[in-house]
Amino acid sequence: MYIATYPDAILRTKCEKVDLDTEMEFAENICNKMGRVIDDFKAIGLAANQLDYNKRIIAVRPSGITETKFMINPVIIEAAGTMIGDEACLSLPGVLIKIKRSAIVVVEYFSLKADKIVQEELMSQECIIVQHEVDHLNGITLAQSAPRALRQQLMGQLKAGKKGFAKALERNTKLAKRAKQMAELSDEALEEAVQKQYGTTGQISSFHEKLMYK
Ligand SMILES: [Zn+2]
Repeated sequence: MYIATYPDAILRTKCEKVDLDTEMEFAENICNKMGRVIDDFKAIGLAANQLDYNKRIIAVRPSGITETKFMINPVIIEAAGTMIGDEACLSLPGVLIKIKRSAIVVVEYFSLKADKIVQEELMSQECIIVQHEVDHLNGITLAQSAPRALRQQLMGQLKAGKKGFAKALERNTKLAKRAKQMAELSDEALEEAVQKQYGTTGQISSFHEKLMYK
């Protein structure tokens, strides 16, 4: 199964609404595939564009829940409070980024299970997952929503000389040098450098994986 990784163009695409009158069969097919990926990767959430479908569909399965919930055309209609937590993403393997989110959201969506439009108030993990996945549908990944945090993490690794970075340094001085250069760039310049240097699928992920987690 194809899973898009940053900075694939589909991850930076604002997805189109599912036409509830004419596209339901197509939407159900996409949901089935998404469900399989959720199972295979033990993921807690997924957006259709991560599987290369330009459609507004997300799958949500918080830890400890066995049934995956599919939301078609989800819209966050209310949001309140804030919380900060570490987030990971199948499209940025090996990366963990601190993100600020709303603590409560009300989401409106077409429920595949209920076969109608429903509204739900969400808190805790499910609330975070929905915000993360709706970001995906709007073409935003962790890499775009928190370039500063990404940079800070890289700098943190550099300064603290943590195990992972020290190992990467030992293994690959060129990589370490690039990381240092990137850590000194502005957010915009960093984005640009990332696009330029790691513009091909998967390379940015493996870069961070190598740098931060091995
Ligand atoms: Zn994601």
